[in-house]
Amino acid sequence: MTTENILDDPDLKKCVDFHGHICGGLALGYKASKAGLEWLQEKKSLDEEIVAVVENNACCADAVQVLTGCTFGKGNFIVKDHGKIVFTFFSRKTGEGIRIAMKPRSPEQKEKQKEQMEKMRSSTITEEERANMMENMALGVLNAPVENIFDLKPVKMPPPGKAVIEESRACDECGEPTMISKLEKIDGRNLCRECI
Ligand SMILES: [Zn+2]
Ligand SMILES: [Zn+2]
Repeated sequence: MTTENILDDPDLKKCVDFHGHICGGLALGYKASKAGLEWLQEKKSLDEEIVAVVENNACCADAVQVLTGCTFGKGNFIVKDHGKIVFTFFSRKTGEGIRIAMKPRSPEQKEKQKEQMEKMRSSTITEEERANMMENMALGVLNAPVENIFDLKPVKMPPPGKAVIEESRACDECGEPTMISKLEKIDGRNLCRECI
């Protein structure tokens, strides 16, 4: 994919449609997912069930769901709120995978990012200028070699526990059926987390 037509990539377009806009964060998720899928393909693990772990809850997570097909509802898209741009993609069967972590930014890059953020937050910026800036930030990521942005390291993940279908019981306050393991016993009553 060359510099000019990366924005025409159908996979990128799908991510943008899902996420609602193009931005640097989405581009990071796109780039990491592509690298992860490529690695799994080489290991012939792509036809097995893949699990994606994302260590933040920002824009990049949306690209991961679109590109890998791992979703929150299927339980193979795991979000760890660590505030880090780190992704792990692995085969559920073999546990073999790749951890893709964003490299620290250089002082110059940090300075530039600070300036961009200030500009984006300023009240005088037009919507169009804002959209252009977000697109440019995305392009900066999309056109950089993946090794310039991320450290990639093979990992072996422990086998995940079997998904259990758990029984529910009514919460003693609101009456709504709740998984038994999520109820808490308080003063002799079983309460859901919303009613505690
Ligand atoms: Zn975004
Ligand atoms: Zn309740």
